[in-house]
This record gives sequence, C-alpha cells and structure tokens, in this order.
Amino acid sequence: MPTLPPDDDTERVRTLDDLRRWCRDAPSLAVIGKPIAHSRSPRMHNAALAAVVADAAPAASPVAGWRYFKFEIEPADLDAALALFHEKGFRGLNLTLPHKVLALASPLVRAVSDRAAAAGAANVLVRRDDGFLGDNTDGAGFVRSVAEDLGVAAAGADVVLLGAGGAARGVGAALLDAGCRTLWLANRSPERLRALAEALRKSFPERAAGGVIREFAMDAAERDGALASAVFARGALVANATSLGLREGDPSPVPARFWRPDLLAIDIAVFGGRSETAFLREARAAGARTTDGRGMLCWQGALAFGQWTGLPAPVPVMRAALE
Ligand code: NDP
Repeated sequence: MPTLPPDDDTERVRTLDDLRRWCRDAPSLAVIGKPIAHSRSPRMHNAALAAVVADAAPAASPVAGWRYFKFEIEPADLDAALALFHEKGFRGLNLTLPHKVLALASPLVRAVSDRAAAAGAANVLVRRDDGFLGDNTDGAGFVRSVAEDLGVAAAGADVVLLGAGGAARGVGAALLDAGCRTLWLANRSPERLRALAEALRKSFPERAAGGVIREFAMDAAERDGALASAVFARGALVANATSLGLREGDPSPVPARFWRPDLLAIDIAVFGGRSETAFLREARAAGARTTDGRGMLCWQGALAFGQWTGLPAPVPVMRAALE
C-alpha cells in the first residue's frame, strides 16, 4: 500500500485550539466526533489519497498534498468548529457521534441532500462557497455492504434494525428507499424509537401506508415475544446498529437462542484489535451468515471520497486499510 510522507501526523487527535491555529496550505479533510481517537477514517482516507496520487504523476494529481485528520469536538462547539473548518479551507468532513443529527440544525449546513433529510442525520459535509452541503452515505454504504458481504439485496428484504441512533437513521432510510419488504425497528429507549419511526414514516409515506415500517421495544418481554413471532422471517437480515458490543464483554441485543442458520447478521460496529461482538459470535455459532461494520465503513467512505475529490475512490485500497 502506498505510504504518506511523514510530515503530517494524521493519527493525532486534534482539538478546536488546533483548528484555530490551522495554517496548512494544501487542502484538508477531517472526521469530527467525541470520542474520536478510535476512528479508522484517517487511515482509510489517507491510504486512498496516497493511492490516487501514486497512480498519477504526483504534481498532476488533483489531490496531491491532501490529508485527512481527526478532531475531537464537543457538541456545544459544533457551530464554531464548522465555521472554522470552512474558513480554513477544509474540502469536506465526516461527522460521527454525537454530531450526525445535530449538524442538520447548524447554520453552516446550508443545504441537505434528500437522503440526509430522509434520515434526519448527516455523516458527510461537502464544502460549498457559503458553507457545507450535508449528505448521508451511511445508508448507501450499509446497502452496498450487505449486497457484497452477505449477498443480500435490500430490495425485497425483511430487515430487523436494532438501534435508533445516528447510524440507524441513515440505514433505515436507505433500506426503505431501496425497497425492503419489511423493516422492523427496535430500540432500548422508546422515545428514540418513536422519533425514528415517525421520521421514517414521514419521509416514506407510501411505504408506511403499506405497513412496511413496524416496531417493537427492546425490553426483554416485548423483544422476546416479537423475536419468537413473525419478526425473524425466513432469511431475514438482522442489523445491530446499537453501540451495545463496542465494549469488551457487552452482551448481544439478541438472545442466542433466537439465531437460526437461515438468518443473516450484520453488526455495523468496527472493532479493530478486539474480539468480535457477542451478536456476531452467537449468530455465527448458530449457522447464520455474518459480517461486521468494515464493509459499511469502507463504502460510506468511498462515496464521500468521490464527493469531496470528484474522483473514483480506490475501494480495494480503502478496504485493505481497514484490515
Ligand atoms: P448513537 O449514540 O447515535 O446511538 C446508539 C444506539 O445504541 C442507540 O440506539 C442506543 O439506544 C443504543 N444503545 C446504546 N447502549 C445500549 C445498551 N446498553 N443497550 C441497548 N442499546 C444501547 O450511535 P451511532 O448510531 O452513531 O452508532 C451506533 C453504532 O454504529 C456504533 O457501534 C458505531 O461505531 C457504529 N457505526 C458504524 C458505522 C460504519 O460505517 N460501520 C457508521 C456509524 C456508526 P438508546 O436510544 O436507548 O440510547
């Protein structure tokens, strides 16, 4: 894999103070969140930038000198940070926890793509003269990953989506847009579950009228009743978009006894260097086909890369950078 010259430490966590002092001449990209130290996006995007530059004569490459950084930004500082990112010439940003939903209300986000509006969340900001365009590539990345990694077409699929946070919003909207047959939503807190279900019903009124969007609570009694009945249809795709599993020793949101060989499981968590989640381990032990969040991370990044640079993303290089 091509390597970057050692002049920019792109793995260092930077802060709002670093941004205030920012004086890099060449174009920059960044992911912002809190926490952010664990993010693999800089590694993936810097590998992609290096590969694209290596493919052309360096001086001729439109992304020569571009670098991708990581910043830890508090939610209360989001507007100030976005104003600075724009002032300092950043070409684009990725947003992660806790900024995906908040960003849509920022005055610096001047326009929102249809898919970000449908999701009520943005994981990508693309520079414009007057601010940023908010977009959501999480959902499209998820759909692409389940097609490639599990062999499941979102169109016509029966899906159980666990979680109602920023990531689940993009995934749910993309599944409905792609024409899934049923979408069961479940979440620990009923308020967030209701908010997601309402948002999706508003964005996809015809699908909602057709009864495609359904929900169940994650308390043990309702969850177990739902899982034992029609929720886990034959061949259903079960997606863990909760953050349960991120910590070593976390239990699975699906009790092991519900897994069957005909089910498909994706845990969108990306867990480098740690053992896989109980959700995936138990699903696989029962014979279900499984995949983790690396495919989704790669594809959402590839779609963002294309928007920021106008160039096709070197997907195999990005995927290799996540291994
Ligand atoms: P949010 O904080 O926005 O949402 C977290 C979700 O997890 C909520 O639904 C929350 O439920 C649920 N949750 C948290 N703790 C528990 C628990 N103990 N028991 C049950 N449910 C719980 O996070 P995101 O949506 O941004 O991220 C969710 C996951 O997706 C993370 O693992 C993240 O790393 C991953 N991700 C992966 C991506 C990829 O490209 N592969 C992209 C984006 C995210 P409640 O509402 O009740 O709090």
